[in-house]
Amino acid sequence: MPEWPDVEIFKQYLDATSLHQKIRTVTVRSQKILKDTSAGRLRQALQGRSFESCTHYGKYLFGEVGARERLVIHFGMTGSLKYSQQDSRNGPHDRVVFAFDNGYKLAYVCQRLFGRIGLVTSVDDFLASRGQGPDAMSIDIGRFRRIFEKARGNVKSTLMNQKTIAGIGNIYSDEILFQAGINPGASCDKLADADVKQLYHNMKKVLKRAVERRADLHKLPQSYLVAHRNKGETCPRCHSKIRTRKIGGRTAFYCPNCQKYPHGR
Ligand SMILES: [Zn+2]
Repeated sequence: MPEWPDVEIFKQYLDATSLHQKIRTVTVRSQKILKDTSAGRLRQALQGRSFESCTHYGKYLFGEVGARERLVIHFGMTGSLKYSQQDSRNGPHDRVVFAFDNGYKLAYVCQRLFGRIGLVTSVDDFLASRGQGPDAMSIDIGRFRRIFEKARGNVKSTLMNQKTIAGIGNIYSDEILFQAGINPGASCDKLADADVKQLYHNMKKVLKRAVERRADLHKLPQSYLVAHRNKGETCPRCHSKIRTRKIGGRTAFYCPNCQKYPHGR
């Protein structure tokens, strides 16, 4: 599922391929992808205009297309973008296709149809209406600390909750907790200030490193948990067997030896 680093790479991809090019047609190949808009409305808003800039917040991407409106994209479980020549065949999972005047097209590809595309007039209002917490990469340590002072429940679910911090999902929460040496099942109210700082610095470090590696999980260092996130593998630090556990409906991978339960403030 696309998380903060993946969406950042999609932003960079859209920036590099599709900015400032006149959109000739918008073809909606699957209505299910549209959220609070229609194919006609999308065509009206986009055709004849260009993506002027693109911004990224949490798991959302916003393409500015005019003074008033922005295209909003959520990538769901399997969403991505693909830029290609217009005469190349549409893929079976190309759901919305933006064709430009230059002979190229940008396809929003989404195999499992959990992604969504819509139009928004105000990014801030949209994020507020979705209850989105602060963006994982923009949040400062003060706000992060205040979130964890108030948070209850386990630390992994808190990191993955988009209403608490926007952008982190199952894979990167596991990696951040591994790097921070904190068990995913640890209670937030047991974290000492030093643990919260560890969490914060490792969140930034992991997300930054993932973007540097183009969000390609296979290119992350071997010292990362993600390279060993399979059943039966061992921890890259201590060689203990990696364990799994269901937390918040997702499977957490962790090292029971390297990742501790903090004992409180
Ligand atoms: Zn270990």
